[in-house]
Amino acid sequence: MSGREYVNKVISEVEKRNLGEKEFLDAVTEVLNSLVPVFDKHPEYIKEGILERLVEPERQIFFRVPWIDDKGNVQVNRGFRVQFNSAIGPYKGGLRLHPSVNQSIIKFLGFEQTFKNSLTGLPIGGGKGGSDFDPKGKSDREVMRFCQSFMSELYKHIGLDTDVPAGDIGVGAREIGYLYGYYKKIKNANDQGVLTGKGLTYGGSLGRTEATGYGLVYFTEEMLNDNNTSFEDKKVVISGSGNVAIYACKKATELGAKVVALSDSNGYIYDENGINLDVVKEIKEVRRGRIKEYLDKVPTAKYVEGCRKIWEIKCDIALPCATQGELDIESAKILIKNGVKVVSEGANMPTTLDAIEELQKSGVMFGPAKAANAGGVACSALEMSQNSMRLSWTFEEVDEKLKEIMVNIYKNSKNAAEEYGNPGNILMGANISGFVKVAEAMMAQGIV
Ligand code: NDP
Repeated sequence: MSGREYVNKVISEVEKRNLGEKEFLDAVTEVLNSLVPVFDKHPEYIKEGILERLVEPERQIFFRVPWIDDKGNVQVNRGFRVQFNSAIGPYKGGLRLHPSVNQSIIKFLGFEQTFKNSLTGLPIGGGKGGSDFDPKGKSDREVMRFCQSFMSELYKHIGLDTDVPAGDIGVGAREIGYLYGYYKKIKNANDQGVLTGKGLTYGGSLGRTEATGYGLVYFTEEMLNDNNTSFEDKKVVISGSGNVAIYACKKATELGAKVVALSDSNGYIYDENGINLDVVKEIKEVRRGRIKEYLDKVPTAKYVEGCRKIWEIKCDIALPCATQGELDIESAKILIKNGVKVVSEGANMPTTLDAIEELQKSGVMFGPAKAANAGGVACSALEMSQNSMRLSWTFEEVDEKLKEIMVNIYKNSKNAAEEYGNPGNILMGANISGFVKVAEAMMAQGIV
């Protein structure tokens, strides 16, 4: 059987078995199609049913999460944990609290996480979880009661060497604190490494806040260096103004670039002198305000309503760091027309598939999310190491390790793309590099 025939067969089985799970099917189709040359070179993977096993989560846990709101009413949400693949280490992946959460979304995220975690080079498998609970508009006490109820079931399935959840959308320091506090109480065990994203007073890692944004810039700098250029004197546009965008902006500026724009879901700011990040941090991190308030402090800047138009700004480097699907084919065409050299993804799936194709066709260097934003989970794995050793590394130690990891992710993705006949296609290279390590570990461990 050829690689193409094998991939088509598995995709059609996945379609039959996972009816209506659009996000999961899209993710499987995208990844598997890029793996075709791997199966032509390694027919032994076909014989061992690697793909058939890989697309089926090892374990899925769905559970009832009852809690009592501030008015004394009973509320019921649905909890999920999908333990996707443990071939290279304990399941690892965030918990998402958002009304849109369902089985398909958690499976899609867990599937993708398996490859991203593999790319970091650290011993972590893939998992994901969450609930359709919406923390927006809930009081701290309501969030706490929800987290305690959620953990009263989740604790049975996680553990230092089994499954280590982290934060994701809707799960920040507050939620991780409530989850960890309750886990510790019912287990009577200070297993700090069972959750990551913890506060610095109880086992969190220095550098985690900066890790995804800094990691994105380290990855992109390596891609630029490999093409005989760098961030120095480049004009950069970054979408979003949250955690990833702010620290990408900081590191890109340190490396000599001029970041001229940031956005939020209402619109974008343009500052031709380069964004003053202290002003942005005060608005976004301290006051949780809107990006247009930047003009109160920097009246020479411009504010434009509507965030999609940010890609109309002429730039050398575009870093989408806001949300999924934010850079579509029309935006890609404008960026190309304006001479963009690099698009590198800080958010998860911000660039639509047709936009990626258009960018690649036009010779724009493209850094895919799976590789470029893996700095966050890599730093989470470093948090697990520190917890196991009962040690805390300095910021500089963590940052140095992060940089090394991001450089290696770029090199491994690039080498895989070359080895499998598609030089320069870092998206394909990242999928292949992440996959091959998992496949080899699965081969070594037998049919389990
Ligand atoms: P935050 O919630 O901190 O920030 C998100 C930012 O994006 C906010 O400024 C938000 O604005 C803005 N935004 C939301 N929707 C849009 C839109 N349609 N157009 C423009 N801006 C928008 O999230 P993070 O920075 O943590 O995460 C950003 C992305 O990176 C997500 O896709 C996330 O999954 C991904 N990611 C994050 C990691 C991390 O460690 N934080 C790790 C790996 C991936 P507003 O304030 O108006 O909502």
